[in-house]
This record gives sequence, structure tokens and C-alpha cells, in this order.
Amino acid sequence: MIRNSASAMAEALAKKEITSVELTQLHLDRIDAVDSQVHAFLHVDREGALSQAAAVDAKRAAGEKLGPLAGVPLALKDVMTQKGIPTTAGSKILEGWRPPYDSTVVSNLKANGIVILGKTNMDEFAMGSSTENSAYGTTHNPWDLDRIPGGSGGGSAASLAAFEAPLAIGTDTGGSIRQPAAVTGTVGVKPTYGGVSRYGLIAFSSSLDQAGPCARTVLDAALLHEAIAGYDKKDSTSINAPVPAVVAAAKKLDVKGLKIGVVKELSGDGYQAGVRSRFDEALQELVAAGAEIVEVSCPNFEYALAAYYLIAPSEASSNLARFDSMRYGIRVGDDGNAGAEEVMKITREVGFGKEVKRRIILGTYALSSGYYDAYYGSAQKVRTLIVQDFAKAFAQADVLVSPTCPTTAFKIGEKSDDPLAMYLNDIATIPVNMAGVGGMSLPVGLSPDDGLPVGFQIMSAAMKDDLMYQVGGTLEAALLSKWGAPILSQAPALATK
Ligand code: GLN
Repeated sequence: MIRNSASAMAEALAKKEITSVELTQLHLDRIDAVDSQVHAFLHVDREGALSQAAAVDAKRAAGEKLGPLAGVPLALKDVMTQKGIPTTAGSKILEGWRPPYDSTVVSNLKANGIVILGKTNMDEFAMGSSTENSAYGTTHNPWDLDRIPGGSGGGSAASLAAFEAPLAIGTDTGGSIRQPAAVTGTVGVKPTYGGVSRYGLIAFSSSLDQAGPCARTVLDAALLHEAIAGYDKKDSTSINAPVPAVVAAAKKLDVKGLKIGVVKELSGDGYQAGVRSRFDEALQELVAAGAEIVEVSCPNFEYALAAYYLIAPSEASSNLARFDSMRYGIRVGDDGNAGAEEVMKITREVGFGKEVKRRIILGTYALSSGYYDAYYGSAQKVRTLIVQDFAKAFAQADVLVSPTCPTTAFKIGEKSDDPLAMYLNDIATIPVNMAGVGGMSLPVGLSPDDGLPVGFQIMSAAMKDDLMYQVGGTLEAALLSKWGAPILSQAPALATK
């Protein structure tokens, strides 16, 4: 049962072939069996999960109307507040903090009867691409435990690939849902900016942050998307418009007449040969399914990474000022004599990790008087050019595509001392965040170079999220009929367990 899709689990629950308590227990047992090796979870809420499950079972028994995923378990990225449950954002500075309120995403999950198993590991404050920046140890990729599961949401993606949870929540500021999905052979979606409320999401870069669904199939991601998306007056950037019909789109399994734009600048040099070849084969599947392939050029994407690493740290330097030892988390150096400023200084020195400090310093510098125009101001101009590139490209194609990342999962430790090499992972995912459009990654096979999963990225215009689900669902179905089994059934590290 735990290797099924969330939709299949939901069906079994609806038919009363299994109860939510049983299904939840199966996942808790799986976590007990494998998480010492994977380390996807920072906190497992056994009692809470079982009591949420029992409540859903009781409602079902009473004949109440339930959401389509009611009773299915989920893993929550530790950057999202859940009332009373430890929430650290992967940082030591928040150790022991239990939020007094639910994020809107969590309220929506609860309203849909989705059972929250626990909190997943991540790079500290979502800064990173490997989960190595977590203050609580690295998560391991279930395909090869010596490799990274991606980041920042490596814990969420690894929990899916290790069959510890069939659904997970991620957040994506520059690729943190899509890149972990790509390197773990799972599906991850960054919805249109403003599509999912950011209320209760611990902010990294507010103009880029977006929560979204992580799953093992496109339909499962769509079901979770509809459960969490929608207008929220508590988030001023939330879009007050109907949620795109992504579930219906994921079920269409038809791309006839759709134009798919291959972004020239996101698939050339710097991409591993094995990544390229699987990407090209996936394109052929879409052609066979009736889509038309066109090439589009987005010349300013070349500058997206540099601009992102000015805008995101600038916003982070401001957002992270709230961690001052007075209101949340740990306090260090308060001996009764030290002044507040001294205590803040010591706490931040001890509480933040190296990458977070690097970003705060970078952001503070980029925003400082005399440099503001040259750095932050220029980066914002580049952002406008990227928005214009997308607008032109979407005038020529219904969706845009590229490999999700330049390489498959790299070895733990391989890039941890080289920030620039780490940042380059995000070269294909960052433009999507800069423009606020939608992005999905789904697995398109194993690289012939190393046998590891390759991710295919589909981008859709703002509030046209349904189109990426339509194309993703069709591609997934075509590949499934070719492979005969879901990609995760081939994961060697899992087969032995
Ligand atoms: N890897 C990128 C970074 O380090 C993106 C992170 C994210 O999307 N949260 O900033």
C-alpha cells in the first residue's frame, strides 16, 4: 500500500478497504524502518497524526462529505508553521520553537482531512540546493544514500522517494521544490506566485517564496495543489481569482494542438549529456502525443542567477532581522548583565549557519547606501527583462520546457565548500521565480551516465498552472506505458529494503 499513489490510497480509503489510522500507522512504521538512513524528518508527530487520522475515520463512518485526499498522510517542510509542533526552518536559532498558530497551508490541509505526519529537513531558512545547510544534519537521497536529495526541500522529496509519505509540502524561492523533485525521481510544482498563501511560511525572500505540492505522480500533485491553493486575505500578495482547474487538466492526457517552447538558453552547454538525452526523448514523447515543438529564445535568462543572488539575499537580510533572540527560539549570552544588543549579537552568531550569514552579509551590502542602485537596483531591472522574455515566449508557446537541473544528484560534500558551484544548480529553475510564473518538475527517466533520475521542467504563464499539469500528465502517462512501472520502482537503495 505505501508504494501506491496518493490517489490510489484515497480510493482505498473511500472504499473502506483501509482506514486512515491503518494507513498512517503503515507510514509511521516505514519512517521507523528507514528514516535513520534517509533522515528526511526532523520531527515525527506520531500521536498527532494518528489522532487526525482517527478523526477522519470517524467522519467517514458518520457519512460526512470529505475532501478527495481525506485520510492520506503528508510530510510538511519545516519552514511552515503548524500550531504547537516544533518548527525550526532547519536553523539552530529556532530550536525548540513551537508556533502559536497554523499557516494557511496547514489550515487548508487540516480542512481537507490530510494527515500531517511530521516536519521535514531542509537547508537552513531554505537557502541551499542539497539540504547540507541544515543545522540538523544532511538528508540522504533514497536512490543512493551517498548523494544529496536536493534542496532546500530535500527532506520532503526524500520522504516521497523513500515511501515514508505519499504527499509532501515544499516551498520554492529559486527551485527548492523542483530541483529536489528532479534528483529524487518525484514530482514537484511551484504554483504561480500568489496562488498559494504565504501566511505562516517563514519568509526567506518574500517576492519569490511560494509553497507548493510534492508527490509521486502529476495527478497527486494536482489534488494537493487544489487542496492548498486559493485566495487568503492574510497574505497581501495572494491572488483573488479562482484556482486554475489543475486536477481536470492532469486527467486530460492530451496535448494535441499545444505548442511547447524549448528554451534555447536553458538546454545547451553545461547540461550533462545524460540529462540532455532524456530531455530530448521526453520531447519526442510529446511530439508523438500530438504537441508541436518550437524553439524560443529568452536572452536575459543568462542574468537571472546573478540577479537572484542579489534580490533573494537582500530580502533575506531584512526578513531574518526578526530573529533577534527576543521573540523566537534560542537566546544565548543573556547573563543578566549583557545588554539586549549584545545578546542579539551572540545569539545570531551562534544561531545562524555559514550560508545564512553569507546571504545576510551579501544582502546587507547590496542594499547599502551608495551600492543600492548598482546592485539591488540593477538586479530589479534584470528581473523586469526576464518578465518580458517570458511574455514574449508565452506569446509563441503554451508552455515552456527545459531540463530542471544541469546534473543528476551529486555526492554529499561535493559542492559544500563551493557556493558558486552550488548556486549553479538553480540556473534553470530561478527564472520562473523571478517572473512569478508556474513551474513543474517530473521524472523522465534515468541518466545513462549514472543511472540517476532526470527531471523535466514545464513552465506555464501566471495563473495558467493547468497547462503545465496537462502537459505533465500526458508526458507521465506516455512514459509510464513505455516503462511499464513508475520510475521509483527502479530505485536500487530502496529495492533492498
Ligand atoms: N537553491 C536556491 C537558494 O539557495 C533556492 C532555494 C529555494 O528555492 N528556497 O537560494
